[in-house]
Amino acid sequence: MTILAATPSALSPSMIVAGMVLVTVTFGYALSCWLAPFARCRRCAGAGTRKSLLGHRKPCRSCDATGWRLRAGRRIANTLRDLRDASR
Ligand SMILES: [Zn+2]
Repeated sequence: MTILAATPSALSPSMIVAGMVLVTVTFGYALSCWLAPFARCRRCAGAGTRKSLLGHRKPCRSCDATGWRLRAGRRIANTLRDLRDASR
C-alpha cells in the first residue's frame, strides 16, 4: 500500500527556514513602516531645498519643501487601505 498524501517531510528544512526568514523580514518591515512612516527626502537629503543650476536654493518639489517622504511600505499600506475602503 502506498501513501500519496503530501507529508510535512516534503518541505526541506532550508525551505522552512527561508520561509520563516521571509515572513520575519516582511512583518518587521511592515512594523517599522507603521512605527515610522516617514523618511528623509532622498532628493534634498531632508533639507527641503535644493541648489538650482544658477546656484541659489529653491524649494524641493519632490517633498514639497518638507524634507520628508512617505516610505514605500507605508505607501503600499495606504493604497491597500484605500482599495479596501473603496470596495465597501
Ligand atoms: Zn526634498
